[in-house]
Amino acid sequence: MSFTLAIVGRPNVGKSTLFNRLVGKKLALVDDQPGVTRDLREGEARLGDLRFTVIDSAGLEDATDNSLEGRMRRLTERAVEMADVCLFMIDARVGVTATDEVFAEILRKKSAHVILAANKSEGSAADAGVLEAYGLGLGEPIRLSGEHGEGMNDLYTELVPVFDRFEKLAEDTAPETDVEFDEDADAEFNEGEEIAATPVPTMDKPLQVAVVGRPNAGKSTLINKILGEDRLLTGPEAGITRDAISLKIDWAGTPMRIFDTAGMRKKAKVQEKLEKLSVSDGLRAVKFAEVVVVLLDAAIPFEQQDLRIADLAEREGRAVVIAVNKWDIEEEKQDKLRDLKESFERLLPQLRGAPLITVSAKTGRGLDRLNAAILKAHDVWNRRIPTAALNRWLAGMLEQHPPPAPQGKRIKLRYMTQAKTRPPGFVVMCSHPDKMPESYNRYLVNGLRQDFDMPGTPIRLTLRGQS
Ligand code: GDP
Ligand code: GDP
Repeated sequence: MSFTLAIVGRPNVGKSTLFNRLVGKKLALVDDQPGVTRDLREGEARLGDLRFTVIDSAGLEDATDNSLEGRMRRLTERAVEMADVCLFMIDARVGVTATDEVFAEILRKKSAHVILAANKSEGSAADAGVLEAYGLGLGEPIRLSGEHGEGMNDLYTELVPVFDRFEKLAEDTAPETDVEFDEDADAEFNEGEEIAATPVPTMDKPLQVAVVGRPNAGKSTLINKILGEDRLLTGPEAGITRDAISLKIDWAGTPMRIFDTAGMRKKAKVQEKLEKLSVSDGLRAVKFAEVVVVLLDAAIPFEQQDLRIADLAEREGRAVVIAVNKWDIEEEKQDKLRDLKESFERLLPQLRGAPLITVSAKTGRGLDRLNAAILKAHDVWNRRIPTAALNRWLAGMLEQHPPPAPQGKRIKLRYMTQAKTRPPGFVVMCSHPDKMPESYNRYLVNGLRQDFDMPGTPIRLTLRGQS
């Protein structure tokens, strides 16, 4: 049993394009002209290791027809009724329109679970539209580009808890009565609606972790140690919930889904696809993870391959924890640690502030600190800083170190807001954003990291000009 996702939104926002990407076949028509005749269309979707049913509600014929709203309503309501979760799509290049508001209203009333997507988000032309989408009151928008396949990992991250909930429902034939409610899930219901009678169990979203590193760094040993038993190599018969690329565990009370690149490699060996997989497995794990643990071998730390994967994790916007393994064989621990920190700062300046934890996968030493670092990095990655606090902070930063004045014109930074989380992304409204030197950007990013205590996460800062 899996879930059904309905893609809803006004014509021409890109629903069919996304549908095609998820289904992988040219099942739905795509057309530049809004209004090609279509109805609800269903397909079997794949996204990473998830399989689900997707409904494309692009069934509106003519945007000038004055019965549009009625038909739009009926069609959308039908899709919503059929679905467990709705992906509400707007066009970030156009921004929020009056028609989008009508859809938002229907969804607020009728849908238990809405994922808001700002589509056509490739490039900075979409930034304003993404910001506007917050105003719909449907939560944080994810940035998507259905056409270019961007943001699919964020969509995956949103869907994993839905998937897990269905898996769980399928397992528990009779739901327990002591179901807990989480505030967010509860808030998605409208009071008085018939739908509100259905309790929603807490979504225990497992924290998604990838353990990556060179061959022999100790990934399998580490995961085995976390599992507490030598189960990894013995495969699914041993009773671990696992699929092709991940396994679910409970690590010191925190449910996690660990992307196990070592296991993937070993599996691949069997299938004689080693060459092909070993190139992409680390990459795939990074794309699907929230927190990436880069596992280094203390004897040969910061090799090219380590640096490359750590950099990839940063560019993909993942939270990063550096773990230095085989610490049990290190003799001059103090000196070694100093060297490691020095190399880290020099070789991975883009990961400044990320925690560096020494561990022994073999003895289990340091695994409690590793667990704490993962939780903290994840927390920071999800953090939202209130706009008022940000603007107070910005005023202080500007006073301490005013922005430059290229050609005698001072760049004015007017206002700042956090536009997204996972990782934290900030937008600063300013005059002449194109003239802002990179060093000032760094000053702000480093300041944010320090003053708001945000180690271990990439921080994105976008300057936006004001007209
Ligand atoms: P629907 O009416 O909502 O199903 O929209 P379609 O999927 O038919 O897309 C409408 C138009 O938007 C087509 O020209 C698509 O090529 C285009 N489009 C879809 N997704 C994207 C995207 O991510 N970026 C950009 N720039 N265009 C897109
Ligand atoms: P993987 O290729 O990254 O999965 O690495 P493995 O887990 O297979 O480990 C490679 C080798 O390093 C094995 O011989 C392990 O026993 C050894 N090893 C792993 N972790 C440690 C550790 O913390 N200390 C020591 N001394 N050896 C370790």
